[in-house]
Amino acid sequence: MNKAYKYRIYPNKTQEQQLARTFGCCRFVYNQILALQETNHKNNIKHMSKFDMNNYCNHVLKAEYPFLKEVDKFAVTNAIYFLETGYQRFFQKQGGYPKFKNKHRSRKSYTTNFTNNNIEVLEHEIKLPKLGKVKAVIHRVAPSGYHLKSATVSQERDGSFYCSVLYEYEAVIMPVAVKEIIGLDYKSDGLYVSSDEKVCGSPKYSRKAAKKLAKAQRRLKHMQMHSSNYNKQQQKVARIHRHISNQRKDFLHKKSTEIANLYDLVCVENLNMKSMSNKGFGNGKATLDNGYGMLLNMLDYKLADRGRQLIRVGKWYASSQICSCCGEVNKMTLSDRKYQCSCGNRMDRDLNAAINIKNEGYRLYREIVA
Ligand SMILES: [Zn+2]
Repeated sequence: MNKAYKYRIYPNKTQEQQLARTFGCCRFVYNQILALQETNHKNNIKHMSKFDMNNYCNHVLKAEYPFLKEVDKFAVTNAIYFLETGYQRFFQKQGGYPKFKNKHRSRKSYTTNFTNNNIEVLEHEIKLPKLGKVKAVIHRVAPSGYHLKSATVSQERDGSFYCSVLYEYEAVIMPVAVKEIIGLDYKSDGLYVSSDEKVCGSPKYSRKAAKKLAKAQRRLKHMQMHSSNYNKQQQKVARIHRHISNQRKDFLHKKSTEIANLYDLVCVENLNMKSMSNKGFGNGKATLDNGYGMLLNMLDYKLADRGRQLIRVGKWYASSQICSCCGEVNKMTLSDRKYQCSCGNRMDRDLNAAINIKNEGYRLYREIVA
């Protein structure tokens, strides 16, 4: 299994220049090869494999543009591999055609690989190839037994730098006797309703910050594009964005840790979050805001770390229609907030769904272990 630790880093001036050069070279090579593949395609020449692309870069591009040799060679190779991943996604109809990277709009980042201790997380620094030791805030470290695989350095829109260090580890699966089970039903105007009648809303402060963000964005709209005030305001907007997303992540980390510590089996509905936020399922903004998908990802690895399990109940399972008491199916419309059944069961619609998800999840779990 893989796990990443993301650290804020504070490069000095020289390191910052080297980082800018590396971002630039990765973008340059990516664009050069994308252009070459397009020309080849027009001339009916077969799509180059990622190894051919890398060879072309090493023998042709690096000879023609010697500055490419001054940056981390793994970063350049990985930029080529990312392009190929983009192509593969496109070929398999999972994504759009790879786009050219723009100096101003594209994300500034590169990934480098671990070899011969070239990357090291130290007490207050991270050692990176071509940069040496970069000042960093090390808020947590990987446990022993984790193997460093790669590091991704990025610069956010507000100018701050981060280094995400990826580790590989072997999950120790200790089968836990399943005693505590919970079902979670996704709530479009909050986070979830659980089968033990707890309602979890999305963090309120995010709304507060959203107001601040809207104000800052309005101000930005009235400014002259690319003027110095505009750039300053743009950084301010980016800072508020980052603040909001950090607050949200903290909240989700707390919630997911709490659940992972309490329950052996967590049952959830397998929802397609992306299509839900796009297709006006309830309130699109609330869907994006509450990060339910993020919560599930966190639960997934936190439960796995503890030898526990997350069970996803199929989309086809009619959790909101089935009576959690007698099993009868009653047609419900989205506006019915109370679930009512002829057996006498009357309860909150989301709670009824959460109990059904819990029961179905447990059934699936017994099928798996049987
Ligand atoms: Zn019933």
